[in-house]
Amino acid sequence: MSTLLIRNATCVASMDAARREWKDASVFIRGNLVEAIGPAAELPQGADEVVDARGHLVVPGLVNTHHHMYQSLTRALPAVQDAELFSWLRGLYPVWAGLTPEMVQVSTRVAMAELLLSGCTTSSDHLYLYPNGVRLDDSIEAAAAIGMRFTASRGSMSVGRSQGGLPPDALVEPEDAILRDSQRLIAQYHDAAHGAMLQIALAPCSPFSVSRDLMRESAALARAEGVRLHTHLAENDHDVAYSREKFGCTPAEYAEALGWVGHDVWHAHCVKLDAAGIGLFARTGTGVAHCPCSNMRLASGIAPVRRMLAAGVSVGLGVDGSASNDGAHMLGEARQALLLARVGRALEPLGCDHGPAEMTARDALALATRGGAEVLGRRDIGHLAPGMCADLALFDLRTLAFAGGAVHDPVGALLLCASPQAAWTIVDGRIVVREGQLATLDLGPLLERHNALALQLAAG
Ligand SMILES: [Zn+2]
Repeated sequence: MSTLLIRNATCVASMDAARREWKDASVFIRGNLVEAIGPAAELPQGADEVVDARGHLVVPGLVNTHHHMYQSLTRALPAVQDAELFSWLRGLYPVWAGLTPEMVQVSTRVAMAELLLSGCTTSSDHLYLYPNGVRLDDSIEAAAAIGMRFTASRGSMSVGRSQGGLPPDALVEPEDAILRDSQRLIAQYHDAAHGAMLQIALAPCSPFSVSRDLMRESAALARAEGVRLHTHLAENDHDVAYSREKFGCTPAEYAEALGWVGHDVWHAHCVKLDAAGIGLFARTGTGVAHCPCSNMRLASGIAPVRRMLAAGVSVGLGVDGSASNDGAHMLGEARQALLLARVGRALEPLGCDHGPAEMTARDALALATRGGAEVLGRRDIGHLAPGMCADLALFDLRTLAFAGGAVHDPVGALLLCASPQAAWTIVDGRIVVREGQLATLDLGPLLERHNALALQLAAG
């Protein structure tokens, strides 16, 4: 089994339960697992490869809990730059209807390249559009090619406009076909083992694009097969109004009625989760993917993250789809979560209890690492300790962004200074980003093809 030594890092932030940080420490990796962390002299000698980590901060690989990677083809489209969620969706559905298998394969590689270069080692992706022969296999193939740990979510839409839903009828699928394909994907790909590189989740898109039946059936299938459930919930005021009008209840009540709460469920956004909803999520172990940039871009609001955490809700971070962020810098997302939590508290009617300490730099890093792992149901990633997956990101503290910051506090500077690119990203013991460059594929030709496909898609 090959071995890799990350030697003499300025700091290793383990993000374990005690948030232990080592100064001048090394990490010894055997195969795909961390074997030991500590002073280099105390670790096994003679590793197959040694990374000189002097001047670097080592953190656990970041975990992205919500994304729609195909949207990398439709970033910053002028027609929907200033739209809120529902009109943004209505504007984009007809464009996305032209999506092809090649577009999914290429855009997923691009989205993953961006994440990996920002220190992210595990991502989920929520693909809910299957026109023109697109299959979830297209995303799965991309993750394997680039070397990213992946939770592939089999999304779906089944209620078109003629049935009172939001998407055009041409983009929805029959429910029996959705469930059949879900079953096929789980059987073919889902790996529940420690260190799994690929897991499948079932993810009907949202209460305004699928039926109650499909929500219930998906939950039953997921539980029979032992996979997780994911959807969008309580994203903005219109989303809540739709729920009240169509279902006569809040989004959280709707989720509960359909069996969509529990340790095996995570919901994206939850910007408008009310106090009862927060209590419900805490009691049931239901997770939340917090997507601060997307929530700001679409003017959806500020998710009550500190209240969720105080109540005991599991919260991870998501960059969300590339058409509503429009950047997929995972570390940047953590920085935004930190800043937005502070603003959010200050805007509350009763003022601010905690001030800026509402969310500390280390709290934000915890959301982006162990929080994400919890939300994706992974016990083998999210912090660094012997026996955990060897997923690490290294940041070079000697660069401009860190000047005058890292010398005082490398971890604080990582979150508070402008978000840098990762110098090294290691996934499952394999170097995927080496000295700031993607090591598993050639980015230049990929971007050229991606941009050509983006123009083709927009032209219709
Ligand atoms: Zn989303």
